[in-house]
Amino acid sequence: FFSSTPRIPKDAIFALTAQYKSDSSPIKVNLGQGTYQDDAGQPWILPAVAEARRRVQNRKLVHEYLPILGLPEFRHAACRMVIGQPAFDSVSSRIASSQALSGTGSLHLAASLIKTCSSLKPTIWIPEPTWSNHHLVFGSLGFKCRSFPYYDFERKSLDFDSYRTMLQSAEPKSIVVLHACAHNPTGCDPTKEQWREIGETMKQRQLFPLFDAAYLGFNSGNIDDDAYAIRLFVNELDMEAAVCVSFAKNMGLYGERVGCSFLVTRNADFAVNTESVLERLQRSVVSNPPAYGAKIAGTILNDDKLRNIWNDDMVTMCSRIKEMRQALYEQLLVNDAPGDWTHIIKQSGMFSFLGLPLEIVIKLRAPHLHGR
Ligand code: PMP
Repeated sequence: FFSSTPRIPKDAIFALTAQYKSDSSPIKVNLGQGTYQDDAGQPWILPAVAEARRRVQNRKLVHEYLPILGLPEFRHAACRMVIGQPAFDSVSSRIASSQALSGTGSLHLAASLIKTCSSLKPTIWIPEPTWSNHHLVFGSLGFKCRSFPYYDFERKSLDFDSYRTMLQSAEPKSIVVLHACAHNPTGCDPTKEQWREIGETMKQRQLFPLFDAAYLGFNSGNIDDDAYAIRLFVNELDMEAAVCVSFAKNMGLYGERVGCSFLVTRNADFAVNTESVLERLQRSVVSNPPAYGAKIAGTILNDDKLRNIWNDDMVTMCSRIKEMRQALYEQLLVNDAPGDWTHIIKQSGMFSFLGLPLEIVIKLRAPHLHGR
């Protein structure tokens, strides 16, 4: 029965991690996968997470099913965190939300929901370059994936002219994927003025924003600043939107799969209907989302003291990444590396996009491979 089943190459990022693990060099570093590690190359358990874990365990940890839409106190707090007070008080009744399987599951769930909306087109505009999984997630749901040039590889900065051209020419009611902050992989975001132009153009041209918010807190160490674009679109420009939030990176809960998908709709009735569709979609794939990570995240988001500790944790991660960028930049100068490397210290978020051509990456790597 399986004679016609094809063999699909392994996911490029995970294949690189496997290569890294099998390398016997004592001085290796994994520059591929986006996970934060400490100076010793070890995963970092955030102090806020460690404290929340203690509290969850002390509360008598049971392993019952969560509701289909997830842990209510987690998903409401996640939406409140993104929209911000006081705006949340007036927007909350128009929000349909569901816990989801981290950022990937949130994108999949939001896109599945959008697919059911007859007033939206199944065409999705995706920046190029982007997170490698976007095309797979949306393509697997039957969306027509269209790319637009996001990055000017010559000038190593945002290609805003191409962005604008896409917004002016995309078919009304199609979807645009927006990295809410800390663009993966370029570390290059629109300025506040550019975000405003993007939002106003999208509103005027009836384009639907789908925010991928996988790195809130990673630009500035502060959720309020990093949620700027989402808040601008929803609170100020009064737009409908889909928002897909991941707590993998900003809480270091990678493997617990903690995320939340929410849709901001026009009115409370639409929100109730939309949430009922989210619930139906979730039932068919996940049934009940995982509880443990949501309990940890919910405990942090609903407690002022833990929120403050978490803020400090995000500042710790951001500051260290900044220092490493600076150190890399300085070493490139010390070693007379040809070219201009200022883009490395201008970028923000988890990624440092060197912008090296593929053949140079392979040339640099080849002499240092060990044990294979
Ligand atoms: N969106 C972007 C832009 C990402 O970089 C990632 C992870 N690298 C995700 C979504 C999904 O992450 P996760 O499913 O682990 O939350």
